Amino acid sequence: MYKHQEIEKKWQKRWQQDNLYRTQEKEGRPKYYILDMFPYPSGAGLHVGHPKGYIATDIFARLKMMQGYNVLHPMGFDAFGLPAENYAIKNKVNPKIAVSESVKRFKDQLEILGFSYDWEREVNTTDPDYYKWTQWAFLKMWEKGLAYESSEPINWCPSCKTGLANEDLEGGKCERCGSEIEKKPLRQWVLKITDYADRLLNDLEKLPEWENSTKEMQRNWIGRSEGVEIFFSISGLAEKISVFTTRVDTIFGCTYVVLAPEHSLVGKLKDKIENYSEVKEYIESLSKVSEEERISLHREKTGVKLKGVKAVNPFNKQEVEIFIADYVLLTYGTGAVMAVPAHDERDYDFAKKYGLRIKAVISDNSGHPYDGKKAMEEDGVLIDSEKYTGLSSQEARKEMATWLEVEKLGLKKVNYRLKDWVFSRQRYWGEPIPLIHCEKCGVVGVPEEELPLRLPDVKSYEPTGTGESPLAAITDWVNTTCPKCGSKAQRETNTMPQWAGSCWYYLRYIDPNNHQALVDKDKEKYWSPVDFYVGGAEHATRHLIYARYWHKFLFDIGAVSYEEPFVKLKHVGLIMGEDGRKMSKRWGNVINPNDVVAEYGADAMRVYEMFMGPFEQSSSWSTQGLSGARKFIEKVITIVSYREKINEDKKVLSLLHKTIKKVTEDILEFRFNTAISTMMIMINEMMSYYKDNSALPLKLEDLSKFIQILAPFAPHISEELWQELGNKKSIFLSNWPEYDTNLICDDVISLVIQVNGKLRANLEVEADISESDAFALATRQENVKKWLEGKEIVKKIFVPKKLLNIVVK
Ligand SMILES: [Zn+2]
Ligand SMILES: [Zn+2]
Repeated sequence: MYKHQEIEKKWQKRWQQDNLYRTQEKEGRPKYYILDMFPYPSGAGLHVGHPKGYIATDIFARLKMMQGYNVLHPMGFDAFGLPAENYAIKNKVNPKIAVSESVKRFKDQLEILGFSYDWEREVNTTDPDYYKWTQWAFLKMWEKGLAYESSEPINWCPSCKTGLANEDLEGGKCERCGSEIEKKPLRQWVLKITDYADRLLNDLEKLPEWENSTKEMQRNWIGRSEGVEIFFSISGLAEKISVFTTRVDTIFGCTYVVLAPEHSLVGKLKDKIENYSEVKEYIESLSKVSEEERISLHREKTGVKLKGVKAVNPFNKQEVEIFIADYVLLTYGTGAVMAVPAHDERDYDFAKKYGLRIKAVISDNSGHPYDGKKAMEEDGVLIDSEKYTGLSSQEARKEMATWLEVEKLGLKKVNYRLKDWVFSRQRYWGEPIPLIHCEKCGVVGVPEEELPLRLPDVKSYEPTGTGESPLAAITDWVNTTCPKCGSKAQRETNTMPQWAGSCWYYLRYIDPNNHQALVDKDKEKYWSPVDFYVGGAEHATRHLIYARYWHKFLFDIGAVSYEEPFVKLKHVGLIMGEDGRKMSKRWGNVINPNDVVAEYGADAMRVYEMFMGPFEQSSSWSTQGLSGARKFIEKVITIVSYREKINEDKKVLSLLHKTIKKVTEDILEFRFNTAISTMMIMINEMMSYYKDNSALPLKLEDLSKFIQILAPFAPHISEELWQELGNKKSIFLSNWPEYDTNLICDDVISLVIQVNGKLRANLEVEADISESDAFALATRQENVKKWLEGKEIVKKIFVPKKLLNIVVK
């Protein structure tokens, strides 16, 4: 009878007493830092899908530990921000209390799964000793001019009552609550992440162990494009329209210009625009449409002509109409485009709808004239483009850019989709921004020795909706004196976004109790960079871009010694409900790991989750699969109980060594499902041997090796069986078993058969086939037989496992 609860509790307690998972920094050993993306401790606790990635890193960490590495495998909590705060508001508890309760619940749930975390290194982003250093890093950025105040319209969630970064939106809606986002001008702090855009892009090349799909998402997010900014004058007026384009070679085909409806020129030209009321109405009709929707290819494009004003193409001095249209966004480029319908799909659709001129200026290489049936977006040769006619698109772009710069009608420019990072929130539950506003000195930093600037207690932590955080109401906190001149001054009341604390937490695990520095330099040098980082694919652009940016900044100021924080990255696939849907309260398909552990055991759950399918893929929960995993463990227990009579079998021994090899390689490659199926085959082999021979086919020392490779997957039962087999020290302090290459050579090999040195056949044979057996087999082959007919065999050259050459005359 497998009493999993008793066994698992016993070992969890023992491991803790023995400090088994305390991070070792033993000399002469290599280090390995394996990291999970730390969770938001939400009030709902974990469902069985959450620990999948943690189980994988735990298996990996245990392997490395047994292979003799100093392993850093920590865990912590990302607890500031909207998820925790919204939960607290909804349940009417103080977020501080709500968070500490949630953290406790999470830890309890993690602990029953038997993870090897070193809890002495736990970090929590809401701990003042932690956020002191988040504030410190922000201050350094501010000192370097990388944090600035802005009042540009930003994304505003009317329900969360806060400003949001572009990264906080999903499909144009608030990622947290799903509300439609509005644009609202708001004073805010912004981080100049665009200063790092090129490095963030180029250094992706230095990350060969990241998945290409993730790197591609980052490239698209950064969205670098090289082009020119061109100034179109407006007939009879001093104003100019700046347009950004990557295709200046098509400019002779420009038949109109489009401004984003929010473009400031629209207001400035108010008196000149004859149909201004129509224009205004149109702009208002767009205010409820998200940017995402506006640029969707499926949406029919709309727009309004600005009657009474015209733009002038600087190349041919021709006048073109000016439109405002939904498909041009203020947030990309200059918020204005030159429309070339013959060579741009979106311009083409718009021109077709409004009956605008379509003029081809690029011909493809086939020499066929432009048929006007759709936009021809490829590069080609310029036609109808005055002195540029006949040039290739590439040549023309170069020459035209130079001409623009010489004539001062434009300039070469690199444009990014990435925008500076809106870094303040008008909410309570975040790190206070450590700045002070002084009437005389302007903005002054809180002196370093006064950090952490603690988040004060408030009566009402609900968002005010006025664009001010609830901190603004705490006058005795807000009112302070200027650290520079001693005059009356006011504290900044915005707080940092939820992403702030996660930008550098992996560094704090290295040195969690340091009061003098964010991280000690020697320790950082030893443990950095993170060798392996595992977490959800949803962080491909947000967290993983922010963290790379902060890390590069910390590198620039000498706080860390590597430019990239994470060497290898892997994403974990979801676990869906038994019905195939995402686990959610809404569908009633959530499975609590506590229930699974109580009934089947943590080891069975761990084995099952790793056996469900390839790690990166999502798969649906199956109770049947879970009980299969449990049965596997029961079989292992049964096998160990058969040890009274041993009758070593070479074949089973060979299979064991193959299994060791496969499991070792599979763990390192995160192929847990095939590792487990290999172990299952091994166990079934032993079972059937026992049935036939009433004896165990392996010596106890070899059986122990099997238990060792099972240990990372099912740590509790493995430790139990290991000690039952007479071992005294923990299995996780034992050395990972080596496989014997002599024992694993494949049973079946391909044997080359030659006659007089010429290849005549290839035979699939047992590796240990004898010369005479090989010869007998060879002579039965038609293609060998015919070369031997009527000949005398002079000699046979046999190279075991390779070839048999029959020499005849
Ligand atoms: Zn929201
Ligand atoms: Zn001052």
